[in-house]
Amino acid sequence: MPDRKEFDIVIIGAGVLGSAIAYELSLAFPGKIAVIEKEETAGKHTSSRNTGVIHRPFYLDPQKKRIFAESSQVSFGMWKSLAEKHGLPWMENGTLEIATREDDMKSVESYSKWAISNGMREEEFRIFDHQGLSQYEPLVQGYGAFLSVTDACVSFGAFTGKIMELAVASGIEFIAGYSVTDAVETPDGILMKASGPKGEVEVIAGFMVNCSGGDSLSIAHRMHLAKKYAVLHFRGDYWVVGDSYPGRMRHNIYTVPKHKKFPFLDPHFILRQDGRRELGPNAALVATPYDYSDQHDSGSLFLKLLERPTLPKLKLLTNSEFISLVRSEWKSSRSMDEMARRVREFIPGLETSYITGRGLSGVRNSLIDSSGFVPEAVLEQSDHSLHILNYNSPGATGAPAFALYAISTLKDSGKISLRSSAKLESSSWAREISSLF
Ligand SMILES: Cc1cc2nc3c(=O)[nH]c(=O)nc-3n(C[C@H](O)[C@H](O)[C@H](O)COP(=O)(O)OP(=O)(O)OC[C@H]3O[C@@H](n4cnc5c(N)ncnc54)[C@H](O)[C@@H]3O)c2cc1C
Repeated sequence: MPDRKEFDIVIIGAGVLGSAIAYELSLAFPGKIAVIEKEETAGKHTSSRNTGVIHRPFYLDPQKKRIFAESSQVSFGMWKSLAEKHGLPWMENGTLEIATREDDMKSVESYSKWAISNGMREEEFRIFDHQGLSQYEPLVQGYGAFLSVTDACVSFGAFTGKIMELAVASGIEFIAGYSVTDAVETPDGILMKASGPKGEVEVIAGFMVNCSGGDSLSIAHRMHLAKKYAVLHFRGDYWVVGDSYPGRMRHNIYTVPKHKKFPFLDPHFILRQDGRRELGPNAALVATPYDYSDQHDSGSLFLKLLERPTLPKLKLLTNSEFISLVRSEWKSSRSMDEMARRVREFIPGLETSYITGRGLSGVRNSLIDSSGFVPEAVLEQSDHSLHILNYNSPGATGAPAFALYAISTLKDSGKISLRSSAKLESSSWAREISSLF
């Protein structure tokens, strides 16, 4: 017989989101809480395999991307105080977003309006025209640019580890090394089966929060929820720029996205918090959330595309812009020449010979429905469960505030009760969330 454990709330997944929710609940919820994670430590997947930029919300349309915009804005101060308090790296070196086509200057103009609407201060950004840009950053080229001064480079993996440590110190149980393989709703809660190298365990939860990143849709589907959605996995590859590169860029360099209908950005030049410089990521379509190697497994990908529901995928696969994008993204996954060529559009001096190897790849899990890519995170609920789907960039930036948003949603719908003394707006990260959501 497998071991049996009982909790009031169980969170599946110790990525940045599950860890942030666990920590906030540990401060506000009176009952027994556990996090089940298939790996031995927190934050091993997307939360450690990303660009590592705390994004300021200048590029997020306050109407269409409201939740991500507000989460990013509120979380900025929360992350900064966590970094200061615990000595975690925080490099506020800013991001320069380049207009590589004349028309992109319209987006650059919109960014200043969106920045203000989303709560940024005027001194946190600047706009350059072509001449101003070449004087300010002679190594890049473009029609102009938006400079976000306060974007910061961090290690989200280290941040995730720290919040999980705080959550455990605050009383939650971390069940590491067990993968949830089944979840069934009963009249009183959720019955989960989990297994791992140490054996099998049955976990009963009064309420379950599914934050399992690349697996969250399949867990929701198993519980007959979110059936209209399908998920596609896109691997982002990074390439390391070695010390032979003579350029000394002061900021991350992004470009205004070319394909706004699709959730891909063109590759960037990234400054890492530990001093490394990288190019990337691209977006290569892969079969699973854990396809980190650069091998192309077309058989598994084909089977993935046949998984139900197929209609959203069929619609995309007959879209010629999408197909040509998928092809070109694969090219820059295989070839460092191709990645360098893409980056030369905005950093003309970047030669292939400056690239020394591959960085750590990460996989984005994008939800699609019959209208195409879903723009925001999706919260799907049943009586005893909440499933957080499509939690993509700038998800790591927004996680602390998004965690509060998810908890407030559950509290307001009567699904969980918090301590009478609990005030979500005054947790130990000392920030204001007030009436933002
Ligand atoms: C290439 C790339 C670059 C990005 N760059 C940035 C950036 O610069 N800034 C930013 O803000 N955001 C960025 N993001 C987005 C950000 O990284 C994600 O939004 C965030 O990490 C998602 O966190 P998560 O906790 O939802 O998922 P994850 O980190 O994937 O965590 C999910 C956890 O669930 C566990 N799990 C899965 N299935 C099970 C199961 N069955 N049982 C138990 N455990 C399970 C996994 O092991 C994992 O630990 C980027 C994303 C990608 C892909």
